[in-house]
Amino acid sequence: MAKKLARKKSTGASRIAPPASKNKFVYLFGRKTDGNGSMKALLGGKGANLGEMCRIGLPVPPGFTVTTEVCTYYYANKRTYPAQLKGQMEAGIAAIEQQTGKKFGDLKNPLLVSVRSGARDSMPGMMDTILNLGLNDQTVEALATKTGNARFAWDCYRRFVQMYGDVVLGVQKRPDEDHEPFEVVIEKLKHERYHQDIEDTKLSVADLQELVRRFKALVKERVGQNFPASPWDQLMGAIGAVFGSWMNDRAIVYRRKYNIPTEWGTAVNVQAMVYGNTGERSGSGVAFTRNPANGVKEFYGEFLINAQGEDVVAGVRTPEPVAELKKQMPEAYAELERIRQTLEKHFKDVQDFEFTIEDDDVYMLQTRNGKRTAMAALKFSMDMYKEKLIDWKTAVMRNPADQLEQLLAPVFDTAEVAKAKAIASGLPAGPGAASGQIYLNADRAVVAADRGEKVLLVRVETSPEDLRGMIAAEGILTARGGVSSHAALVARQMGKVCVCGAAAIEVDYQARTVKADGRTFKEGDWMSIDGTIGQVYAGQVKTAPSEIVAGLINGNEAAKKTEKFKHFQQLMKWCSDASRMSVRTNADTPEQAANAVAFGAVGIGLTRTEHMFFEGDRIDAMREMILAETVEERKAALAKLLPYQREDFAGIFRALKGYPATIRFLDPPLHEFLPHTKQQQEELAKKIGVPAARIHQRVEQLHEFNPMLGFRGCRLGIGYPEISAMQARAVFEAAADVQKEGIKVRPEIMIPLVGFKKELDLQIEVVHQAAREVQAEKKIKLNYMVGTMIEIPRGALTADEIAQSAEFFSFGTNDLTQTGLGMSRDDSGSFLPHYQELEIVKKNPFATIDVTGVGQLVEIAVAKGRGARPNLKLGICGEHGGDPASIHFFEKVGLDYVSCSPYRVPVARLAAAQAALQGRQ
Ligand code: PEP
Ligand code: MG
Repeated sequence: MAKKLARKKSTGASRIAPPASKNKFVYLFGRKTDGNGSMKALLGGKGANLGEMCRIGLPVPPGFTVTTEVCTYYYANKRTYPAQLKGQMEAGIAAIEQQTGKKFGDLKNPLLVSVRSGARDSMPGMMDTILNLGLNDQTVEALATKTGNARFAWDCYRRFVQMYGDVVLGVQKRPDEDHEPFEVVIEKLKHERYHQDIEDTKLSVADLQELVRRFKALVKERVGQNFPASPWDQLMGAIGAVFGSWMNDRAIVYRRKYNIPTEWGTAVNVQAMVYGNTGERSGSGVAFTRNPANGVKEFYGEFLINAQGEDVVAGVRTPEPVAELKKQMPEAYAELERIRQTLEKHFKDVQDFEFTIEDDDVYMLQTRNGKRTAMAALKFSMDMYKEKLIDWKTAVMRNPADQLEQLLAPVFDTAEVAKAKAIASGLPAGPGAASGQIYLNADRAVVAADRGEKVLLVRVETSPEDLRGMIAAEGILTARGGVSSHAALVARQMGKVCVCGAAAIEVDYQARTVKADGRTFKEGDWMSIDGTIGQVYAGQVKTAPSEIVAGLINGNEAAKKTEKFKHFQQLMKWCSDASRMSVRTNADTPEQAANAVAFGAVGIGLTRTEHMFFEGDRIDAMREMILAETVEERKAALAKLLPYQREDFAGIFRALKGYPATIRFLDPPLHEFLPHTKQQQEELAKKIGVPAARIHQRVEQLHEFNPMLGFRGCRLGIGYPEISAMQARAVFEAAADVQKEGIKVRPEIMIPLVGFKKELDLQIEVVHQAAREVQAEKKIKLNYMVGTMIEIPRGALTADEIAQSAEFFSFGTNDLTQTGLGMSRDDSGSFLPHYQELEIVKKNPFATIDVTGVGQLVEIAVAKGRGARPNLKLGICGEHGGDPASIHFFEKVGLDYVSCSPYRVPVARLAAAQAALQGRQ
């Protein structure tokens, strides 16, 4: 390997991405580098950064990237390649040959290459890596002779046939098998020859030769063809496998979860091999420039002596911490430290990199922004700001909004942990606390989670097949593997609690048991794991709130002194500085309102008053009201409800300490409040002294075929104005009482489901009338507003008319999605998942706003509403108000605030800040 050449800063195009030439499908890196770090769309994340590392003089083995456009072409053209590809690849191989002095397929000094996939974002689930490609029965001998190391050459060949057989030829474990077939062959040989489970490094040349023979036989038996001998056939097969893996099930599941568009495609990187398995002066490792689990600024990672890269990631041997290298190979360690500093200075973010040490020389195989837990992201951003590596706005952007909830996740209650029985310990790979019933297989874990169980997935090690099980589980526990094993990487990204490499647990897939600390746990038994410290406990352990929740909600002083709490508060302050929109909350009780204010909400965007009618015996008065046959009877029942409502509102106003409260009048269909079984009807009849038959009759009367499109929303208040009058009176009486206590009160009365201006006008008149009465009775001046929800298409389309009467709009995007899509929000579960699989909808439109459809209704209403009333206040209170992607849309269309549930307030604040910062860029 011509290391010095590769280390020289590369020549080539400037830092700006060169215009992608139409028929250029292969980009070189090495002594001459065509691409750079900004070209991730074309070259994938790996390819772009390999180019970037060459440009800043890091030691990268030369190679080339086949672009993502080839992947797109491949699928658009019945899995074929552009005509120019082969020639460009030949030139690419020639460039590698020239820089390394080796030749592809040569019988004296053969060039071997690695082939790796590389999408824009790394994607577990896709074909990852083939190493040592180019070996066959002849070149292996040449390699042995050239290096004088037959063991090394045969070790490479054994690995190559195994990897290629697995990922390209598809020789993998079948559904009824628990172990990889190649691993079974290895185990068998070890036991035949050594009668025990020896380490791979102890296998002799003869053992390895025998393994290659048996592997080839296994391939022949399973796929019915000979293992390919020609290096070019091998290379084209590997490239096809990478592109093929873009559409495999696991990759599709992953893309769906992380909303990665299918159109992006993947690139393929072909690179000269460097060898971590030449002996004791060589090794492979993965490292982070800082600790990605807790954020501490320390060189963090692991390596294996005399190993190739996949050994580290696969968790086959448990690696050593990278700090150990300092003792074992001080020079290589010093070089890695230098690289660590260079990477952070250049990329200004924490890097996750792969390296190989070949006979004491360090080579870089990959770098990318390191995946991190929310806790680490917060600490990185604050520390890097203090180190002046990034400014405060970048620090805000560095915290993924959809992960922020992890920081609010519970930890184990310390008193409970003291009582719990620790049965094993492992590596702390995903922070947080999780308790669950154990399952040893992903499918069974999914089924149990669907049954409503809390599941802990326990595996010897995880692989991409386990993805579904990992998604379903509360936490993941593995017996083998390091902090960069598959389980750890995926858990971190998903924000799952994870302990890996807990060697003291014995997982028996056949018996479906886990043995630890002398006990046997069966599937369905409880275990608990603490992914922050790596501890495993028997049984269920109670959890306690995180420091942030303890500090903010419970006022715990010790929690407030923690670094995590202080960092969180700093981040939230920056969010306020950066945001244009404010964040309110959806709250129906004083406690919810107070929690939300503690999280930084500046008001209530939605109080669903009907929720208040379900408490205690209020429901009886409510039912009496519904059953009333005359206005008088109804008014009498309403009079019983009024004091309850007044007290609720007063409590909410107090909790809000002067912030505004949007209070929505009764919305759901009345029959939702009535008893439906015969027994319930009879009980109610006794309680309120009416014949059961009358209740039954009224329930029948109120029955609707489409209640969501029926007698609900403002239609109720229009049918029975006395209901709205009671609600308005309760709001104003409470407002007057609390205002007299010296607390500012700002009620905003909101009329639901308005489609016609006249509907709103009728209700506004009822509200004003109540306001006039209460102000006169209480001799007080109240400051209130009346507005409407925009939640049905007609309301959005006639927003100019409605805005003549409404002082504010709040988008009810739940109903607006339901009615805009003509898709029941309650029944869509039966077909939406399939729609998502087919990519008819990219995301669940009830969770993330359908920008191109429902979004247009919002845009129309904003434009028409503000056209009629320039100072019209605009907010959103549907579930989308707490969804980061939707919040970006609401920022773009210029809403004044978003409103979401209390525990999502920090997420919404962060997303609102990021949307504002992005909008200004
Ligand atoms: C909505 O429709 O978006 C809304 C907030 O109201 P609800 O969910 O109560 O119908
Ligand atoms: Mg609604």
